[in-house]
Amino acid sequence: MSKYRITERRFIYPFNFVSIDEPVARSKVLPEDYGELSGKISCELKTLTPLFIPNTTKKGAFGNKNDSAPAFVQAVEEPTNSYDFFSYEDLTKRDDYFRNPARPIIPGSSLRGAIRSAYEAVVNGCLSSCDDENTLYRRTVVPRKHCGIIEKDPATQERVLYKASLSRRYVGADGAGRTNKTGEAVDGGVYLRGENIWNGKSSSLGKTTKINDAVMKYVYDSKEEKIEVARFKEDGKEWENLVEVWRLYQHRGKGEKIRGVNQHDDPAKTNYHGGYKGYLDADLVPVYYTRIIKGNALYMSPAAITKEVFSRTLKQMLKEQGDHAPCTDSKELCPACALFGMVGEESGVESCASRLMFRDAVPIAPDGNTAWNDWYGTVRTLPILSSPKVTATELYQEEVLGAEYYNYDYSVKYYDDGTYEPEHVRTLLDKPNLRGRKFYWHRKSAKLDNTSAYASQRTRIRPVDSDRIFKFELYFDRLSEPELKSLLWVLTFGEDRNGPHAHKLGHGKPVGYGSVRITKADVTLIKLDDSLSLIEEKGEYKPQPPAETEALREYLAITDFSKATDEVNYPSDALSWFKINKEIRLNRSFKPSYNYILPKALDEDRYLPEYEAGDGDIGGNRKGAIEAASGPEPEPEPEPEEEPKAFGTSIRDRIKAAEAEKKAREERSAVKKKDYNKKKLEQACGIALAKSILGNEKKNLLCNFIKDYESDPEYYKSLKHLYEKLGSQKDDFRKK
Ligand SMILES: [Zn+2]
Repeated sequence: MSKYRITERRFIYPFNFVSIDEPVARSKVLPEDYGELSGKISCELKTLTPLFIPNTTKKGAFGNKNDSAPAFVQAVEEPTNSYDFFSYEDLTKRDDYFRNPARPIIPGSSLRGAIRSAYEAVVNGCLSSCDDENTLYRRTVVPRKHCGIIEKDPATQERVLYKASLSRRYVGADGAGRTNKTGEAVDGGVYLRGENIWNGKSSSLGKTTKINDAVMKYVYDSKEEKIEVARFKEDGKEWENLVEVWRLYQHRGKGEKIRGVNQHDDPAKTNYHGGYKGYLDADLVPVYYTRIIKGNALYMSPAAITKEVFSRTLKQMLKEQGDHAPCTDSKELCPACALFGMVGEESGVESCASRLMFRDAVPIAPDGNTAWNDWYGTVRTLPILSSPKVTATELYQEEVLGAEYYNYDYSVKYYDDGTYEPEHVRTLLDKPNLRGRKFYWHRKSAKLDNTSAYASQRTRIRPVDSDRIFKFELYFDRLSEPELKSLLWVLTFGEDRNGPHAHKLGHGKPVGYGSVRITKADVTLIKLDDSLSLIEEKGEYKPQPPAETEALREYLAITDFSKATDEVNYPSDALSWFKINKEIRLNRSFKPSYNYILPKALDEDRYLPEYEAGDGDIGGNRKGAIEAASGPEPEPEPEPEEEPKAFGTSIRDRIKAAEAEKKAREERSAVKKKDYNKKKLEQACGIALAKSILGNEKKNLLCNFIKDYESDPEYYKSLKHLYEKLGSQKDDFRKK
């Protein structure tokens, strides 16, 4: 029985994606080919919701030491994370900024970042900000149940993984005080030193409690020989993956908050992991492992529940997906890099200068204005932004059809065999697909956080209020006419000041901050006149709408402020939501399966439900789960079984139903008579009668034909002559 059910409460996840199915079109762009238009675009920008960009000169801007702060601010303890809005002033130099705030400024770099992302989406450029080559990892969702011992083959220098079994496990107090090292021979097996949990408190066992140490023993076959599971080189992907997993445990210093295996998210519990010291240096390395037969991959780790390292980085995946990784060659650029520039990071790689310069945006206010109070919203606490990592594949990855769970390396499908640990079939993915470019939905209003609990973890801010108008200049250099026109479209969406679409800027995007509209974009060309002096000239250029693509429709859907709703929210308890969403059908543990995945930007139903404890419907929005059944043959064959009510609409149910239907369909089609291609049949007969060698395909054809003919000669009467022609040879085919 499920312990949860969905509720009537629903939310729209704060971000969605613009797809990147079309490959990036790069071209050679050299300075000598640049256009002839230089000048500036004078823009006006209106805040539609409060906007926040921090002035980082003072970290505790609204602390209890600030005498001019109102009582409610002073009442909050540890207000170290509090910032005023960005300005040119150093807030440590004056005390009265609370009552007499500085002139708010929107830095050009913020404008540039937002407009660049928009431009990239509209022209299908690279994802220039995803320059991340870090290893992607996630905690394993299914504990590894296989054990093995790795030895080095002195003859070939290869590493060999032999099958082992877990013969002894020391958990908690049981393992305390042991001093054995990993790889050491103990009790007829090999010792694996597990996590070293420092619980920070004194106990009867002393300060350090070791848990999860283990002894693994070789498993022998009937000839009493060790069973080889796999063999790999030290520079092979299997060993490298293990090294990478081990390396992940090394990232910690004293007092550093870490998350990972058996780590606590509660900052009050400062547990530190031992880091598997000397793990890989041992001659015999005991491991837990998972093998993926379909696709031949091997994942090994020092623990059964572990960090799982994916074989691809984000950048690699983007590269494989239509070459969307950031441009690296200054002579082969996507349209966005050609305009916004590219910084060559590796040595020997040339940079490409930007042809755009965004000036800071300043308030439109009478000259000499010094009172800026009206421009600001109240000081408030920003809700905690639980930004999920890119390894949350239920959000970031394209659905893998037919899989109950999937990540960037493999997909998983289960067959319930009634045991605690159901059979699961993993399939290695040739190519995982990312959802695309991330953009945040607009909210009508910026969300406030009224709780004062855990104030030290939260950020207190003073934003610029909505309905304030700024102006800025965007200088451009040697643009072609199409470039200028598409830039104008990206700035204004080709709309007038009341158009529905808007950009997002600054902090707090997921909770409704930073919706801004560029309400004016006037072009002035700057030219040299005959006497070689600079003259300004009004430019009449109309925004050029981009090609209508699925990606553009997605972009326009997400940026549509007229559809903004305050139902855009993170789930009320994000941590639980993600946990329940993949484990809800579990009565048994460790059987992850996605119920809901992020809807697509253009889906009619963009909502996800909140969960609550209790027995009931859990729903699901996995379109692909039903198609699952038409995929490759399942193995092993699932047994139909009575399921508890709570499983009523589960994905697994739907898969089973679809599988049953497929089977019935196949049975129906099996009854249907097969029709034969007369020409092919004649040819096969001819070869058979000439006693020449028949290929397998033709052999099968004749076998089937004879069987079918004999079962219903009436149906196949038009082929009677061929049947009779085969004469006594028929017996040969019957045998086969
Ligand atoms: Zn690029």
